[in-house]
Amino acid sequence: MAVDEKLASVYADVLERNPGEHEFHQAVREVLESIGPAVAKHPQYVDAKIVPRICEPERQIIFRVPWEDDDGNIHINRAFRVEFNSALGPFKGGLRFHPSVLLGTIKFLGFEQVFKNALTGLPIGGGKGGSDFDPKGRSDREIMRFCQSFMTELHRHIGEYTDVPAGDTGVGTREVGYLFGQYKRITNRYESGVLTGKGLIYGGAQIRTEATGYGTAVFANEMLLSRGSSLDGKTVTVSGSGNVAIYAMEKARQLGAHVVACSDSSGSIYDKDGIDIELVKELKEVWRARIDQYVATRTKARFEPGAQVWGIPCDVAMPCATQNELTGKDAHRLIKNGCVAVAEGANMPTTPEGVQAFLDAGVAFGPGKAANAGGVATSALEMQQNASRDSWSFRHSQQRLEEIMRGIHARCLETADEYGMPGNYVAGANIAAYTRVADAMLALGLI
Ligand code: GLU
Repeated sequence: MAVDEKLASVYADVLERNPGEHEFHQAVREVLESIGPAVAKHPQYVDAKIVPRICEPERQIIFRVPWEDDDGNIHINRAFRVEFNSALGPFKGGLRFHPSVLLGTIKFLGFEQVFKNALTGLPIGGGKGGSDFDPKGRSDREIMRFCQSFMTELHRHIGEYTDVPAGDTGVGTREVGYLFGQYKRITNRYESGVLTGKGLIYGGAQIRTEATGYGTAVFANEMLLSRGSSLDGKTVTVSGSGNVAIYAMEKARQLGAHVVACSDSSGSIYDKDGIDIELVKELKEVWRARIDQYVATRTKARFEPGAQVWGIPCDVAMPCATQNELTGKDAHRLIKNGCVAVAEGANMPTTPEGVQAFLDAGVAFGPGKAANAGGVATSALEMQQNASRDSWSFRHSQQRLEEIMRGIHARCLETADEYGMPGNYVAGANIAAYTRVADAMLALGLI
């Protein structure tokens, strides 16, 4: 798809002003390709230069994180917080610790987050942060020292009404705990709402751990329901085996699906009897092991080193690992093997060629900013509970999450219909999110 004529100069500007940030360019391009009809319908957006303003983060912070390992060696990492858009609420979005993290990575994630958060219908703006720190193989004490050093700088930029980080790749409950502890210590405030994804005993919310993956499977089920079927009885493959993948598999199984494959960066496992999700959970969450260990217990399963799951026939695929992990070639393979629905648990896991292939083939394709919004939505519920010094039950929290996911699904479908692109969740998500942010920005004046 091409970028609308009116938006082409905005895109050219983004390319020129953000050189080398390919993932950021990709994320912006996908949105600009979709929102042409909304821009045409609302000339006031053009007059107020909403689109170029949306493409420029409100604030970008880059800082040094020095820390000492267990052997006394000093390491210097680089860290970021990109506060992208606060028209709808405080900046909200996770922190990613991974050696591949560059400013452009965080900008792409922050940009996506603005739209995802808008889609939830909750009062949260968008931001993202992280560091090129590699947690792999680090001891617990090293992780703690890194988190403390990271927060020693970050604390001055965040706050429950300003910017509320959470987890993402490489940042889970353990890291959020260390970050929160250091924030509390430096500020001398028990400000629960400054971080989400906290442990249950110190202000965390029920179902936050499960929310992203659960939401993705619920979204996949909603897409299928709208086409007269459901996840019940479907064969599902999932990429990744981290927090999102594990709970996407768990919810898919609860909804009657047969989950046969998952992976990590070392390779993939295929278990035709159904993935033993409890085993994956134990390997990943307790032992922090590689996925090949799975076949040591489940001897009938197959581990393929270096392979992805996309060659394994399935009805439904859920990419839950990382950006650009599912290419055009992978998409064609999935389509050929009978895949009818794809729900993205990760952020931008499908390349533009892959997305186009799915749309052309009529596959129900749920983009990450819609399908994986359950995580951040539950973070907003955590903020709500912290603000009211309340704590909801698992049942109530699960019910709210499912309502929110159904709401997002309906909003995407209705918007796609309204703009003459029935069944196109990419267009529906981008236009629905864009108009919400744009309306708020218009109302707030030129800021
Ligand atoms: N990192 C998650 C995401 O990509 C969650 C962010 C949050 O809870 O703030 O949406």
